[in-house]
Amino acid sequence: MPNSLQPEQIIRPEILALTAYHVPPAAGMIKLDAMENPYPLPSELQEEIAQVAASAPINRYPDASAAPLKASLRKALAISSEMDILLGNGSDEIIQMIAMAVAKPDAVLMSVEPAFVMFRMIATFVNIQYVGVPLQQDFSLDEEVMLAAIEKHRPAVIFLAYPNNPTGNLFDAATVLRIIEASAGLVVIDEAYNAFADASFKDKLNDYPNLLLMRTLSKSGLAGLRLGLLIGRSAWIKQLEKVRLPYNISIMTQLIAEKVLHHTGVLAEQAEAIKSERTKMSAFLGTMPDIEVYPSKANFILFRIPAAGEIFQALKQRKILIKNLDGTHPLLKGCLRVTIGTPDENTQFCNTLHALLTETV
Ligand code: PMP
Repeated sequence: MPNSLQPEQIIRPEILALTAYHVPPAAGMIKLDAMENPYPLPSELQEEIAQVAASAPINRYPDASAAPLKASLRKALAISSEMDILLGNGSDEIIQMIAMAVAKPDAVLMSVEPAFVMFRMIATFVNIQYVGVPLQQDFSLDEEVMLAAIEKHRPAVIFLAYPNNPTGNLFDAATVLRIIEASAGLVVIDEAYNAFADASFKDKLNDYPNLLLMRTLSKSGLAGLRLGLLIGRSAWIKQLEKVRLPYNISIMTQLIAEKVLHHTGVLAEQAEAIKSERTKMSAFLGTMPDIEVYPSKANFILFRIPAAGEIFQALKQRKILIKNLDGTHPLLKGCLRVTIGTPDENTQFCNTLHALLTETV
């Protein structure tokens, strides 16, 4: 290799221009930045997992079809036998598979803004044009603008997170259906936060041939396993399977997820605890004079606060890590996002924030 060879000569300019997805170090912190479930599994279940892990044939490649895991998911999530399932190493990977599969030279991947940043980033990775349609000031869909953008760009795929990240709200379901009807391409409803939402488009899969539904186990307590799934008609899933790397779901993920899926009651109880903490935290934040709290159907809360950057830093100094969204999008000016933790973590967050705002710290 010539010594003078520089990455700039080889790497695509749009990749050179990217900033890598930042995961801040969190050792020793109260970690309320990444929408994880704060609760461990019960110790009996941990024991069962230890046994499964100990006897896993890790000298072999994993089952490429992951058929037993898919059967457990079908049962646990009540997925109709008419729909097929595609598995991803996290739902991130499913977004990437879909984007890769549709990335014809003039194709467009559309989402809303602000939304989950990986929609835009993955579009760049796979070299498909990205169009982000702004949400309204209250983070609801702007139906007129959205329908006009669909007509203009004719997107190959639209991603809508329901509830949306980082805003936490559910979009109006009737508007989403009109978007699906107006779209000549695929519409992927990303239900990553379904465990906390009490709402889903799952029952609509039969009615709309261009609708796909994405879920993940990450927010329900298994973020470390990396397992996402796409549910839809076999005509779509068959094509998307072609871009899936054969062994993308590790043997540990397959065996452990299957084991945990036999105990969905545990995950459901934890989700209920998170929802009740969400109610408490929203109410608490709502009592603070300068804070605007946005309603959430997810396991995090978005709020707007004066001097957001300083508050974020002051919390961090006190070992509480949340997410600073100030400066990431004009609609998110002054916004911070806190993930719901354990009652103890939430109390520490609320007390510290209260103390910072009343300047007694
Ligand atoms: N979709 C949305 C809306 C998300 O917020 C996230 C995680 N932040 C994901 C998908 C990806 O989740 P995972 O890859 O862990 O399944």
